[in-house]
Amino acid sequence: MRIIYLFLCATFFFACKAQKEVSDVDPEIYAQNIKAQTLKDKLYVFASDEFEGRDTGKEGQKKAAKFIENFYKSIGVTSPLKDGSYFQEIPSSYFNDRLPDTENVLGFIPGDGSTDEILVLSAHYDHIGVKGDKIFNGADDDGSGSVALLEIANAFKKAVDDGFKPKRGILFLHVTAEEKGLLGSKYYSENPVFPIDATVANLNTDMIGRVDDDHKDNPNYFYLIGSDRLSTELHEISEATNEKYVQLELDYKYNAKDDPNRFYYRSDHYNFAKFDIPVIFYFNGTHDDYHQHTDTPDKINYELLAKRAKLIFYTAWEIANRDKRPFVDQPTRK
Ligand SMILES: [Zn+2]
Repeated sequence: MRIIYLFLCATFFFACKAQKEVSDVDPEIYAQNIKAQTLKDKLYVFASDEFEGRDTGKEGQKKAAKFIENFYKSIGVTSPLKDGSYFQEIPSSYFNDRLPDTENVLGFIPGDGSTDEILVLSAHYDHIGVKGDKIFNGADDDGSGSVALLEIANAFKKAVDDGFKPKRGILFLHVTAEEKGLLGSKYYSENPVFPIDATVANLNTDMIGRVDDDHKDNPNYFYLIGSDRLSTELHEISEATNEKYVQLELDYKYNAKDDPNRFYYRSDHYNFAKFDIPVIFYFNGTHDDYHQHTDTPDKINYELLAKRAKLIFYTAWEIANRDKRPFVDQPTRK
């Protein structure tokens, strides 16, 4: 009896050893799922005239919300909301009735259960709608970030399907009403689905598919804003990840504290940063089509969009799986 018992123990031990840990897995296997063509296919729908510029609360935006929901359903990514709905409803009353009812759209990849901590990846899916006879498609702003989030979620889901759950959960947060004053992310931050204290970082994408005038001759760049403001460690993780996998030229011009554009305060990450959650805002800079009806999907550099999305995927992978959350060494709250 005792011999059999020992034999069983030994078998179990070797079976356990053979089981690969997520920390041993090369994320490059999964990053390959993020492809220029797939991003392009999605963006040509998401930024098509059918979605009528995705104005907050309007019919076109509802179609965009449904598009996001349908994609998550198709790959088996579920919602973190209690009723199973993918929509976090925001009533018109929240906007003092100045906007219609609208919703944030949420997908969630659960962690392995070893911690309650989560990471938030965000992109706003609203844009500025129709003016006169012109549809403002918002392909770059922020169709580019919206479809990137979908492809990043798909890459993480492929790892989960192979048995590699991330240590921390990953929330894919598609916020509404950004163009109205960051209101969808503000609502989320006041009504978080996971505790703010358990939210270890926010990686926010807003306009990541174009090349600005300063980089016409060298499109291999990415503006990062905010990465070192709250957590030096997050900045170091971000830099090391880029160096190891993607080698984009990371440009911190807009991260300067005296930058007159004040981009650090101008997209959804700020609603996390104000609670001392470390953030990185990923951005391609401005261009002549910014907030014009000419921000169309034919002007996106899809290879570059895929490369930038991969950087966000690798950075998210590292934050989701490392032993400890990024340390906040420069808190702003007393
Ligand atoms: Zn935007």
